Amino acid sequence: MKPTQRFVAGAVCPQCNEQDALLIDSKDQSIECVDCGYTQSAEQRDTKKDESKQSKVSGAQKHKPENLINIKQIEE
Ligand SMILES: [Zn+2]
Repeated sequence: MKPTQRFVAGAVCPQCNEQDALLIDSKDQSIECVDCGYTQSAEQRDTKKDESKQSKVSGAQKHKPENLINIKQIEE
């Protein structure tokens, strides 16, 4: 089967910071950098998104860290 990958226009590799070097697989949405070989699955991306969202919230609500812990426990 032929791989169904295409370049992500304007995307920057998180590892080597090369622009327009990332291929995305249209089947499983995984990403691969043709420059440094960096790969990232869609699952990993989702996890990262959640993490950045959480750290943003924690930065905005530094005075109330106990709220964050409660939210995380509910989600789990
Ligand atoms: Zn790269």
